Amino acid sequence: MIYFDNAATTLKPHCVIEAVSSSLANTANSNRGMNYVSLLAASKIYATRVAISNFFNAPKANRVIFTSGATTSLNFALFGYLKPGDHVISTNLEHNSVLRPLYHLKKNGVELDIALADKHHYITPDIIKNLIKSNTKMVVMTHASNVLAHVQNIAEIGKLCRENNLLFVVDAAQTAGLVNIDMHSMHIDALCLSAHKSLLAPQGLGILCLSENINLEPILFGGTGSNTFERDMGTYYPDLLEAGTQNGPAIAGLNASLKYINDLGIDHLYSVCHELADTFERELRKFPNIVVHTDQQKFSAPIVTFTSDDSNDLSMRLSEEFDIITRSGGLCAPLVHDILGHNGLIRFSFSHFNTLDQVETTLDVLKKLL
Ligand code: PMP
Repeated sequence: MIYFDNAATTLKPHCVIEAVSSSLANTANSNRGMNYVSLLAASKIYATRVAISNFFNAPKANRVIFTSGATTSLNFALFGYLKPGDHVISTNLEHNSVLRPLYHLKKNGVELDIALADKHHYITPDIIKNLIKSNTKMVVMTHASNVLAHVQNIAEIGKLCRENNLLFVVDAAQTAGLVNIDMHSMHIDALCLSAHKSLLAPQGLGILCLSENINLEPILFGGTGSNTFERDMGTYYPDLLEAGTQNGPAIAGLNASLKYINDLGIDHLYSVCHELADTFERELRKFPNIVVHTDQQKFSAPIVTFTSDDSNDLSMRLSEEFDIITRSGGLCAPLVHDILGHNGLIRFSFSHFNTLDQVETTLDVLKKLL
């Protein structure tokens, strides 16, 4: 198999698989009693919070919240903060994990403005500035779109948010693990992540890192192992936002994957992936009957998208006839397609497990099919 769907989820290094199976073989619920296995599980989870806070320069380990994915992290940040009458600004580059919660909030009285990216597909501070109103509370945007891939200058937007006393929520599902993200210097108040993409950890795990400027109401209620006799969720993090049993095996996997990424170096991982994406994209541009949407000459996540006659059919044939795995369709980012003027495309996304040989093989196949 040639796996080019790393923007959906990545294949995992052996150390992650081993860490997950070892955690499954020694199962215990964290923070649920004074027995040593529960304490060991708790200490692994705490160590992973510390590793995440170091990785993203998040202000405090106890404000690293484990969720079930970037979607849940975004729902926590949006529903946990915005109230009827508040105004929120987002962008036309967003994934449905941002847009759908916002549309739902809008039905319930939150005012929403969608900023339109400039002709180069960037969200600039001026674009956001023009939309700020007296009741604006938050800007929520992607670090890199899962369709267009280029990395937005979130540090500039974060600075604008700080100057205007707005909370800044970032969807870094496509960049975390490949692009350096510094919550402090980028003025990010809520960093929303999937563990299972370029962070190389298992599915079913997400992360929400909070700055000390933001306090969220819980939207999920239940047991935390603490304050059992209280009727509410208490006030301290992470318990406030972590009702129910944590995903210990996936967190153990994340602990191992962070070490793996740190050992190999995020810059090294990025350059391996970028070279593959760039080579692929450059060759694709020579094909006559397709429109390439990404531009790897810009600082981008390693994603290449293009539209051909029938992108769904192409993706299916690649899978069924050649065992090449891609993604096609709208990719859960509906508004991006208004910019592109197409409503479907095919996406090839790369990880450091891919090789130039795989890229060449795929280009040969595409020459036959297109
Ligand atoms: N944001 C972006 C840009 C994404 O690409 C994705 C995943 N496709 C998500 C958010 C949601 O991530 P998850 O499915 O892990 O919740």
